[in-house]
Amino acid sequence: MPTAVAGPEIERLIQLLARLPGLGPRSARRAALHLIKKRELLMAPLTGALQTAMDKIVICKACGNIDTQNPCTVCTDPRRDPSIIVVVADVADLWALERAHAINSRYHVLGGTLSPLDGVGPQDLTIDALISRVHAEPITEVILALNATVDGQTTAHYITELLQDANVKLTRLAHGVPVGGELDYLDEGTLSAAMKQRTLF
Ligand code: ZN
Repeated sequence: MPTAVAGPEIERLIQLLARLPGLGPRSARRAALHLIKKRELLMAPLTGALQTAMDKIVICKACGNIDTQNPCTVCTDPRRDPSIIVVVADVADLWALERAHAINSRYHVLGGTLSPLDGVGPQDLTIDALISRVHAEPITEVILALNATVDGQTTAHYITELLQDANVKLTRLAHGVPVGGELDYLDEGTLSAAMKQRTLF
């Protein structure tokens, strides 16, 4: 076991930082040291920002997004098209689509995907709330923006079944060649999906 080089308070800081995604124990030590060296410039404002976020963060009751207001900024934005809902598994996916300026719509965050192996069933996700929303709001299209994985696609099919009798267009993201991608480097699954979903030029 390695001997501690600092007091328990600093070791605790390193341990907590090491739990962040993308940071291992080594990067956590570097981050902790950086914070300590920049106490006034970085650590104090970060402490304040963490506390404020902790106090103010709420989950949007309408869509499941994370924000400091409920309903969230996305749900209350009058410039968005309220007739289109993009269904995503996680808030990270919502943020990714927003970063890409992919669509100017509203969202529904499921909170994960169905995964029988991990014991995640429909009751663990916000699928019921989505179905109610589609029936209650003037929605014309539901876009299933879920991962191109077995769990993602299982979830998409499950939702499609439940919305069969709702009067909405059900669409999903295209699977295929990534922008800037070279055909020779693509896996067979992606190539054959791209060929099946070819579009008119
Ligand atoms: Zn919302």
